[in-house]
Amino acid sequence: MDIENNLRHIKENILDNVKLIAVSKTKPIELIYQAYNCGQRDFGENKALELRDKAELLPKDIQWHFIGHLQTNKVKYIIPSISLIHSVDSLKLMKEIEKQSSKFNKTTSCLLQIDIANEENKFGFDLKELKEVLNTTKFKGFKNLKIIGVMGMGSITEDKNKTKSEFAQLKDYFNKLKQEFFADNNDFKEISMGMSEDYPIAINEGSTMVRIGSKIFGERDYNNN
Ligand SMILES: *Cc1c(COP(=O)(O)O)cnc(C)c1O
Repeated sequence: MDIENNLRHIKENILDNVKLIAVSKTKPIELIYQAYNCGQRDFGENKALELRDKAELLPKDIQWHFIGHLQTNKVKYIIPSISLIHSVDSLKLMKEIEKQSSKFNKTTSCLLQIDIANEENKFGFDLKELKEVLNTTKFKGFKNLKIIGVMGMGSITEDKNKTKSEFAQLKDYFNKLKQEFFADNNDFKEISMGMSEDYPIAINEGSTMVRIGSKIFGERDYNNN
């Protein structure tokens, strides 16, 4: 794996205003260091304890992104080191993020994960459910949780048109939410979409953050973890 070359190749293929998040889940500290030494500062993890442990060992100027399904009982482990939680998918989870963030006296930035793939076992809000949450007084009272955009995952498919229309749909949801709920929130501007197999399509559809793992670090071997 030539991490330096992989990073350079991806950077050449994404727009300057798109943030590259190197998804380092299951990968060892040494490989993260290699990417770090090439200048990469944003890394994504999907397990709370793995993120906590890696954050402890690695340089403090790394921005950590949580990208997986987050259980409420694990929130406390990531709050001290997290830069952005991409995968907020329930009011219950928001309440816990609010509670833990206030305990640690910080504001935690979050993205609303929206289900755009309509596949089974994908997480995320549907739009109707999300609007109900955003209208609750509970949500409106949050002080330590800040919503700065949306996140979505495309279907696993060879059909590029399907992927394209799912990403276009997320962009459309973003615009609608911005207008209806976040018009006064200048921080609401992020659209996290695009992975190793579909990031060029995502960028064409307006992505501001891509989450790329295997195209940087190679395939993941879950059996060794
Ligand atoms: C693992 C993962 C990625 C990166 O996947 P690759 O296909 O390896 O780029 C991106 N987003 C989420 C939510 C993930 O779980």
